Amino acid sequence: MRKLFKYLKPFVTGMLLVIALLFGQALCDLNLPNYMSDIVNVGIQQSGVEHAAPEALSWEGVALLRFFMNDDEKALVDRAYVEVIAADADENGVPYTDRYPKAGGTFLLLRDDTNQAELDEAFGTATWALFTMVRDMQAQSGGASGGLMAEGAEAEDLDIALLWRGLQPVLSQLPPAALLAAHDTAAEADPMLIAQSGLTLSRAFYAELGADLGGMQSGYIIHIGLLMLLIALGGGLATVLVSFFASRIAAGVARDLRRAVFAKVSAFSNAEFDKFSTASLITRSTNDITQIQMFLGFGMRLLFYAPIMVTGGVIMAVRKSASMAWILGLACVLLLGLMLIVFVVAMPKFKIMQKLVDKLNLVSRESLSGLMVIRAFGAEAHEKARFAEANGDLAKTSLFVNRVMVVMFPVMMLIMNGVSLFIVWTGAHQIADAAIRVGDMMAFIQYAMQVIMSFLMISMIFIFVPRAAAAAARIAEVLATEPTIRDPEQPKTFDGGKRGLVEFEHVNFRYEGAEEDALHDITFTALPGQTVAFIGSTGSGKSTIANLLLRFYDVTGGQVRLDGLDIREAARNDLRQRIGYVPQQGVLLSGTVASNLKYGAPDISEADMEAAATVAQAAEFITEKEEGYQTDIAQGGTNVSGGQKQRLSIARALAKKPEVFLFDDSFSALDFKTDRALRRALGATVDGGTVLLVAQRVSTIMDAERIIVLDEGRIVGQGTHRELLKSCPQYYEIASSQLSKEELA
Ligand code: ADP
Ligand code: MG
Repeated sequence: MRKLFKYLKPFVTGMLLVIALLFGQALCDLNLPNYMSDIVNVGIQQSGVEHAAPEALSWEGVALLRFFMNDDEKALVDRAYVEVIAADADENGVPYTDRYPKAGGTFLLLRDDTNQAELDEAFGTATWALFTMVRDMQAQSGGASGGLMAEGAEAEDLDIALLWRGLQPVLSQLPPAALLAAHDTAAEADPMLIAQSGLTLSRAFYAELGADLGGMQSGYIIHIGLLMLLIALGGGLATVLVSFFASRIAAGVARDLRRAVFAKVSAFSNAEFDKFSTASLITRSTNDITQIQMFLGFGMRLLFYAPIMVTGGVIMAVRKSASMAWILGLACVLLLGLMLIVFVVAMPKFKIMQKLVDKLNLVSRESLSGLMVIRAFGAEAHEKARFAEANGDLAKTSLFVNRVMVVMFPVMMLIMNGVSLFIVWTGAHQIADAAIRVGDMMAFIQYAMQVIMSFLMISMIFIFVPRAAAAAARIAEVLATEPTIRDPEQPKTFDGGKRGLVEFEHVNFRYEGAEEDALHDITFTALPGQTVAFIGSTGSGKSTIANLLLRFYDVTGGQVRLDGLDIREAARNDLRQRIGYVPQQGVLLSGTVASNLKYGAPDISEADMEAAATVAQAAEFITEKEEGYQTDIAQGGTNVSGGQKQRLSIARALAKKPEVFLFDDSFSALDFKTDRALRRALGATVDGGTVLLVAQRVSTIMDAERIIVLDEGRIVGQGTHRELLKSCPQYYEIASSQLSKEELA
């Protein structure tokens, strides 16, 4: 099967491109939930405020927090902010008061080159320390500290100026060590809480300066929304491109495979055709290649995309909430278990299905091609039953497989929805404890869905891969079969001077798998200008001799020579070019009468073609037809009679003007009169060529220079008609059954 990989080679760049695009697609798909959680967390819940350290800040605000900062943090803040005059204009010429209408005198503006993360942490910690202290104070004084911070206070309710006025006198009384201790305790708190409280105060800072919080919120949501749209578009584009390239690759590989299989099968000798049935060869080059095409076009995508999504989805989900990762783990284990059960149950059936398709093809092919015989023998019922059985077996198996799949999908859905429910349940508690944010939980659900969906895809892969593998193995089997009959490396050419000298020397032959030799020790010579006839009962090996001379099979012992050269040392085309073969069953190819006659010699003139037809006694019926030589011949020559077919086959061989004429029982479908006329005309045409004539009728061969009598693959008599009548009892027996007393004498 590895042999098939070479057919992927021309498409390696395309495949790498597909994999890269799949990566891109996965990246897009994995990022969308992240942005969605940003919209929920920041856009909705924090009014679009992203950072604990705001872009603009009043003096009071920063002074309030500086109480709870250590020296490093204070220095950081000093470096991060620059003082500006509210009435001035920024670098774009817009007055600061446009954005911060309530800013009076001077205020602080964030520099561009600040380390925002560090600053946010400093602000968050200080805020958390401040909040903790205020809560403690409220608790001690029984909530009498002026209602500075009501439980669940909204950002807009927090008034920095009010806080400043209320707290500044108290805080400035406290010893620095106490404030620092409050800071250090706060630094130990949950980073989530620190970040959250920092954001709350940040909004209050903006509100104090009169910033348009609503505008900031919608601005943030629109910004992220557009980003999501762009990513979704990117993902969509990647999907389209992947389909485009994957389809091209799949179709290309399928085309190459079909070409290779066809070329291989064309080179097969009869021995290989005996091994593979035609039905199976057809299934292999159509259905099996289609399976591979489907796998390449669709399965391969899943094969790369699903694992990326599983890995990426798990990583992203754990980053969103490590505390809920176990739910995902549990879901994965459940899904893997389910898939394992399904595949143990269904997988063997998939393999069986392939065989059943083969059998169905075989049965239907046989029934259809033998329909006439089936009808003539009234065996339709039997054939119907045979077909129904093959059909039913296939239906039963595919139904079973489908049922298993049908059960699997709802169970997967159940697991999927169960997981969502579980995440919401656990997430809700964690949100209440401020351990995670709503958006993170939502993103976690989406990642979990992506992971589970990817598992579904992987289960599809399990359907595609074994099928494609089985198909690939069957195709590889054909491609790996080397024709037993091959041209030699350096073919020799025939000595044209000898003009059709045919020699069989001690030839033995056995068909592959046969118990017994079909020919035993056959020795004869046919000289140019001579007619050598073969006669014998059916099965005596006459056609086998023809097959050997044409090198459809190779002899198992002895030698066949043409013009003194062992035919195995010549190219098969060269050999067959010199032989005008008329098969036992006349076979015509679809086209016209003319195209069939010129099949062996496309370049001959019309006159030569018509002459050949005349000799073959075919001219008469051809010219009687309306379109003459342009009359259409249906596929398999079904629109001419058996005798006409034979005459056309003979004319086709004659038109070639070969050295050796080989008639395999070609006159059997002709009436006596035509037979005689044909033989008489033939005598003049063969023109010094060798004629090998297989016949059933003694009258056809009576005039031959030599007659060879075959019986069970052995030569039992050789000579002229007269000689054989006396010397060969088998010949006498055949002759006496066909000829009158006078002719026998
Ligand atoms: P004839 O043409 O004299 O009627 P054949 O040469 O066709 O006989 O066949 C000779 C013997 O070889 C027969 O016994 C036949 O069954 C056997 N035979 C012919 N073709 C094949 C084949 N493709 N595979 C196996 N055995 C074959
Ligand atoms: Mg025969």
